[in-house]
Amino acid sequence: MALLSCPTRHPSIYHLIFFSVYLLFASILPILDGLVLGGDGLYREILRDETVLRLKELRKISGGEGYLERTFSSPASIRASDVIISWMKDAGLTTRIDQMGNIHGQFEPANSTKEALLIGSHMDTVIDAGMYDGSLGIICAISALKVLKMPGKPQVIAFSDEEGVRFQTTFLGSAAVAGTLPESILQVSDKRGTTVQDVLKLNSFEATAAALGQVRYRPQAGVCGDSWYCSPMGMVALAHDGYPLGVVKGIAGQTRLKVIVDGSQGHAGTVPMKLRRDPMVAAAELVLTLERLCKEPNKFLSYREECGCFTEESLAGLVCTVGELLTWPSASNVIPGQVNFTVDIRAMDDKVRETIVVSFSRLVLQKCDDRLVDCAVEHKHAAAATPCDAELTAELERAAGSTLSMMTPTAPASYRAGAGETPVLMSGAGHDAMAMARLTKVGMLFVRCRGGVSHSPEESVMDDDVWAAGLALVNFIDYNATAES
Ligand SMILES: [Zn+2]
Repeated sequence: MALLSCPTRHPSIYHLIFFSVYLLFASILPILDGLVLGGDGLYREILRDETVLRLKELRKISGGEGYLERTFSSPASIRASDVIISWMKDAGLTTRIDQMGNIHGQFEPANSTKEALLIGSHMDTVIDAGMYDGSLGIICAISALKVLKMPGKPQVIAFSDEEGVRFQTTFLGSAAVAGTLPESILQVSDKRGTTVQDVLKLNSFEATAAALGQVRYRPQAGVCGDSWYCSPMGMVALAHDGYPLGVVKGIAGQTRLKVIVDGSQGHAGTVPMKLRRDPMVAAAELVLTLERLCKEPNKFLSYREECGCFTEESLAGLVCTVGELLTWPSASNVIPGQVNFTVDIRAMDDKVRETIVVSFSRLVLQKCDDRLVDCAVEHKHAAAATPCDAELTAELERAAGSTLSMMTPTAPASYRAGAGETPVLMSGAGHDAMAMARLTKVGMLFVRCRGGVSHSPEESVMDDDVWAAGLALVNFIDYNATAES
């Protein structure tokens, strides 16, 4: 691997934190043992057995026949809300449902400190979903608070919409809580022509711009300061068996392009190879060029030629995808006249992503010149990366590391290799945390799932990993909620 250095423009603090975490852990472990964890300190009945049972129960609440589907404000989603509220009450939490259908749970007396710790995930699903995505984060958070019984900063939040399946727009729930959801959203329609306003009214919400404005999270009256949010559960394939948990350092930024390649349409049997201006082969070359660029960026980007700021860490997590390719007229006996394709580029480092976009665009023009075809690159979408809060990330990492160390004596052998170590990862997929980052500091915990498969009934998380996730949250909340505000 090439070494590229530019220590100042894109400093990476995550690895520094990675090492300091364990010094901290060594000093707080006795406190966790003595004050909070009690007994064996592992709370298997609540954090593992009951949590897994509830995941299976929530799995059964579906709008689909024989598959899992709970879209925003659907009858199934309302039934799921009732069940989630009952679990929050069982944990001793006072609940309320806001005007976008998000469920909030907290202990009484209400938070009197200047900070809140919101922990949650989303209760909506994709169509033909797995039972863990979203639900795992909500139920683990409820279970953790049930164990801790700790009034004050911690609160659970179950977001009504993250997937955006019904209205083709993501983060309805969390963006409303963050105060960034535009009023115009009320008029957006689903496939049947039903608007967001219609479905909210159907479920007895006010569905007005003013009501939407009230959803924005505000700390207690007269209290100012930061609120903290932690969206605890995403799922990801963690490469080694020894790592049931991962901590997220940030959510990747994204660029979407459309590349249009124009050539000369012609008869597949009559135009000689030397005379062809074939946009299909040009497009094929461009797809491979993109792959090379993102697989081995160091070969294409260097200090002198580009910006001089690419460390190995800044390049890690760079992913590029061509997901859609259309040809015209798309017939087996015709050399196409036009081919266009989509490009999705994601990276944690915005400068890396922007440089890849510039480099790819330049290569497109070069290669199209060589092949005598005309090319254009259209910019469709760009979103900056969302870094997680460094302090929260460090605390989650500490909590995950200490959890695995605690579980080692009783847990399966696969835990031993990872005890005391927690991978710090970038999330390539979007999450509620992206929306909430507009309001407050965010942190995220990932749980290992089989093969990294999500958004599928094949989603699979080991029961012991569910337990580890719940225990990590207990450790994390306990440390945060008792720390000085
Ligand atoms: Zn999802």
